[in-house]
Amino acid sequence: MTAMLEVRDLRVSYGKIEAVKEISFSVEEGQVVTLIGTNGAGKTTTLRTISGLLRPSGGSIHFQGKPIDRTPAHEIVTLGVAHSPEGRKIFPRLTVEENLLLGAFSRKDGGVKADLQAAYELFPILGERSKQPAGTFSGGEQQMLAMGRAMMSRPKLLMLDEPSMGLSPLMMKRIMSTVKTLQRQGTTILLVEQNAQAALKLADRGYVLEVGKIVLQGSGKELLASDDVRKAYLGED
Ligand code: ATP
Repeated sequence: MTAMLEVRDLRVSYGKIEAVKEISFSVEEGQVVTLIGTNGAGKTTTLRTISGLLRPSGGSIHFQGKPIDRTPAHEIVTLGVAHSPEGRKIFPRLTVEENLLLGAFSRKDGGVKADLQAAYELFPILGERSKQPAGTFSGGEQQMLAMGRAMMSRPKLLMLDEPSMGLSPLMMKRIMSTVKTLQRQGTTILLVEQNAQAALKLADRGYVLEVGKIVLQGSGKELLASDDVRKAYLGED
């Protein structure tokens, strides 16, 4: 069986700087897979390349068996890959509902209204404040909106870039438990996090990135128990 997402020997450069250096990993259907690592390890670059926003300088990316490394970004969305970007990138002057509808831009089916309701069920605050400008929201609420917007394309694979960034511990728990809920509802998830502990706790599989290379991989449990991970990422001696 081929994995839902298969990244092989991927290289990505910004001019002369090689930010991703021949990394390989895969995401099986139904899994939560996490990429962890410190600032500048290449996590965001990897997600942006899978989304088609950056082009690889080497290697390959297959989604459901098809190569997508030369596919335009809007077609990648149509194939079933959604990206909730670092920093959330919501549109502050648009209402919550308008932001959510932008996530459905690629849809031609009639199910958009039902999916708006599904987003409001997942995050009731979005429903309560659907007509308010998104810029009035707190960081945690904006994160909910960014995830809700990504879900509006009905993705098979949802990629989340640092959803816990800048959130209170309580809000972070809320977001992480929503990741689990989405997995239970059938979405496959690729989660990029600097908060290694939170990510590994819920991940089926994890990869540790350091300056553009994968240095460790294993199940979430294995990595949580690994001395190297504990020392480098969980602040333990
Ligand atoms: P962060 O959590 O800070 O986003 P990251 O693991 O996601 O870290 P990337 O943002 O992918 O890392 O950055 C990887 C490397 O590429 C870093 O050395 C970074 O300085 C460099 N880089 C990122 N974006 C650009 C860019 N637009 N131009 C040049 N270099 C870049």
